[in-house]
Amino acid sequence: MRTIDHWINGALVPSTSGRTSPVYNPATGEVQAEVGLASIAEVDQAVANAKEAFATWRLTSLSKRAEIMFKFRQLVDENRAKIAELVSIEHGKVPSDAAGELARGIENIEFACGIPSLLKGGYSEQVSGGVDVYSIKQPLGVVAGITPFNFPAMVPMWMFANAIATGNCFILKPSEKDPSVTLFMAELLAQAGLPAGVFNVVQGDKVSVDRLLEHPDIAAVSFVGSTPIARYIYSTGTANGKRVQALGGAKNHMVVLPDADIDMAADAAVSAAYGSAGERCMAISVVVAVGDVADPLIEAISARLPKIKVGPGTDTAAEMGPLITGEHRDKVASYLAGAAGEGATVVVDGREADVPSQGFFLGVSLVDNVKPGMKVYDEEIFGPVLVVTRVETYEAAVALVNEHQFGNGTAIFTRDGGAARQFQFEINVGMVGINVPIPVPVAYYSFGGWKASLFGDSNMYGPAGIEFYTRTKTITSRWPDPSTSSVDLGFPRTR
Ligand code: NAD
Repeated sequence: MRTIDHWINGALVPSTSGRTSPVYNPATGEVQAEVGLASIAEVDQAVANAKEAFATWRLTSLSKRAEIMFKFRQLVDENRAKIAELVSIEHGKVPSDAAGELARGIENIEFACGIPSLLKGGYSEQVSGGVDVYSIKQPLGVVAGITPFNFPAMVPMWMFANAIATGNCFILKPSEKDPSVTLFMAELLAQAGLPAGVFNVVQGDKVSVDRLLEHPDIAAVSFVGSTPIARYIYSTGTANGKRVQALGGAKNHMVVLPDADIDMAADAAVSAAYGSAGERCMAISVVVAVGDVADPLIEAISARLPKIKVGPGTDTAAEMGPLITGEHRDKVASYLAGAAGEGATVVVDGREADVPSQGFFLGVSLVDNVKPGMKVYDEEIFGPVLVVTRVETYEAAVALVNEHQFGNGTAIFTRDGGAARQFQFEINVGMVGINVPIPVPVAYYSFGGWKASLFGDSNMYGPAGIEFYTRTKTITSRWPDPSTSSVDLGFPRTR
């Protein structure tokens, strides 16, 4: 059986812990490799190498760092097809979808290419007689990223591009379910000229995560994953004195007002709910149908579902692949089993779909008449299940979204600019789309939800990423001028 290694100090390093985890091909259900799970000693070795590399990396000029990022961007661009295939074979999403994930990841490398401008500080001349004040942004040291299975290429790029460009050394702990693509990215970073020890991949599970959270030489932790683990990472990491940003789960509502274009809303709902088999933190999982839009909208959505081609990534016609594991597929299916008993109407049941019998496939599902208090509404399902909640008014729709535990993304579909503006003002959600169903901010803005979708004060990537991976030092300076020197025991004044 093929084994998947760590990448430490510029080279592949096999795990010696004796603990492994299976890596499936979700489209066949077969175990295709075993990933070695790091021991505490292996994590410590990676951190020690990174700490050593930091001493030199932080001295590297900004132009040189930018040059490495430009070169890395070029290498990723040249290898798009290979990376998409690596993602597809371990995650299950179809290659075209994996290519889309990669395209959004590359934006973060492009942002980091601008590091010389991004690290400019402020300067105030003559704050007092002959005194100037300026601030500089310095790297933190060794920082860690812990990432989920659903975007094995993009989410690591959200983190490491800015972390490295700002002068830190980075330890990535990818999901053990689809770990290979990060090793390929490590190779490309090395080819781009990144010195050994600056970017490391430690494969692992809770053992390695816990070690990173308590290691005295880890200055900051970025996490993306489910809400219970995000909450744990935030509380444990901050209790150990680390800077932590921990992004969690989601239940994204798409509010459709009666004046919306029904076909446009139905296209958007179907694309955003079932793309990547619903395994996206910004997937639309609830349609809130306002007033009399519900019946025509559900009819339009239902009409589109039989046309979705479910199949393995090797089938070029397939639009939606399998779920990540058999266990997760069964968990998603259990929500459908429970929905009718809770009073909801299962309009389309993915368990009855004609999908490949091998692998972790589940067809698309549509559930109507869903209300708060039902499990299909309250919880994140993270599968190809779209639920519909009917409300009478715009106010009721807003209340529904605002009362939900999650606040990652939301969208409103309407032709009424005033209603859209009111929505963006009063909705308690971090990322809002206006006639845009998956409003993932571009890399020069920042990504972050509210409520149980983000723990900590810092959004991820973009300007927030530069802030997160640096700390500010402020210098007050006066050059010796003997003609103005005197003893003065008073508190320094500016006027
Ligand atoms: P997960 O929380 O199970 O795992 C995320 C990471 O945490 C993995 O690297 C995993 O190895 C590690 N981990 C798992 N259990 C742990 C434990 N007990 N202690 C320490 N570490 C542990 O998440 P997942 O299933 O890989 O990913 C799907 C989840 O991620 C969904 O909830 C989705 O909404 C969320 N997600 C959120 C965003 C966002 O930006 N908010 C983006 C992508 C995914």
